Amino acid sequence: MAAQREWFEKDYYQVLGVSESATDTEITRAYRKLAKKYHPDSNPGSEEKFKEISSAYDVLGDSAKRKEYDEVRSLRHSGIGGLGGRSSGGGAGFNFKLDDIGDILGDLLSKGSRPPRGSGPQRGSDLETELHLSFDEAVKGVTTTVNVTSDARCHICLGSGAAPGGTRTCGRCGGSGTIDDNQGLFSLTMPCSECAGTGTKIERPCSACKGSGVERRSRQVRVRIPAGVEPGQRIRIKGRGASGRNNGPPGDLYVRVHVAKHPFFGRKGRDLTLAVPVTFPEAALGTTITIPTLENSVTLRVPKGTGSGKIFRVRGHGVPAGNGAPVGDLLVRVDVAVPSELSPEEKGAVEALSKVMQDSPRNYLGWDAQNSRNGRRR
Ligand SMILES: [Zn+2]
Ligand SMILES: [Zn+2]
Repeated sequence: MAAQREWFEKDYYQVLGVSESATDTEITRAYRKLAKKYHPDSNPGSEEKFKEISSAYDVLGDSAKRKEYDEVRSLRHSGIGGLGGRSSGGGAGFNFKLDDIGDILGDLLSKGSRPPRGSGPQRGSDLETELHLSFDEAVKGVTTTVNVTSDARCHICLGSGAAPGGTRTCGRCGGSGTIDDNQGLFSLTMPCSECAGTGTKIERPCSACKGSGVERRSRQVRVRIPAGVEPGQRIRIKGRGASGRNNGPPGDLYVRVHVAKHPFFGRKGRDLTLAVPVTFPEAALGTTITIPTLENSVTLRVPKGTGSGKIFRVRGHGVPAGNGAPVGDLLVRVDVAVPSELSPEEKGAVEALSKVMQDSPRNYLGWDAQNSRNGRRR
């Protein structure tokens, strides 16, 4: 309920015959008494008076409206009431700036006639979706599509919420969408509260969206995933979120990336990792081994005397360069493999080797450790 022009002109307290400080009970009691007295059924010809009493009680009997009314009247008493020009003696003693009054009144009047929520352009919401990539795709980058289900403009009513031909021109504003509220010298133009400023009223809502103007729709969005994306990373795709309302811009789409494990490669930022087992003779004597890369394979020279766990860097075989990042490397860790089973031949050879190996690798640990070699005791 907006403040009415009437509020400036009528003294509802006087109409009900109560003081401005009257309690709710006093107001109600006064109203009942007058309503009975002037009821048109028992008192023909008193319709006008009865209407006046009713509209007074309409306002004073509702504490929120009464508060607004009191605010409007306090403005009147401070001089605005004289703006009509009838009694203010050529404007003497009137010292408001019109802007101020506009602000005050606009504030007061807008209380009940604020344009409904969402009548201006609104940015669409951001959406998030999941994308599962293979290890290779995450390393090399990929262009793919994701399915996004979101609210979209109803394709039947194009977002109006009305069935075809189901609208009529708003009777209150005559289709303009605005209402002029004249207050003496100045007038305020406000959005029409009846039609939310659209100028039309929906008579029959769109059956597809039940009048909401939006529908759930699934769509495919093409996304380019750069090389070297990390598991769990969120990629922002600008403008591919939910569509905006009333010509607002769309939101963004965030694609959360999941990356499958590779049977033998690992990742460390832009580098790939790979563990390669070698035998003790290979590590001790040196060898050349063929190792796989994501693209193909390369040969790696393992020098003689390579310790277990040593890491070799194969340059340029990691994540491809891109997005300002340089190409990564392949980090190969060489592990000396110990067989869990030995053939009789192997066992003999290993025993022979053990006999001829002179120095214990535990010498540095001291006397006790030396003496415990081969489990012997002295
Ligand atoms: Zn619709
Ligand atoms: Zn209207």
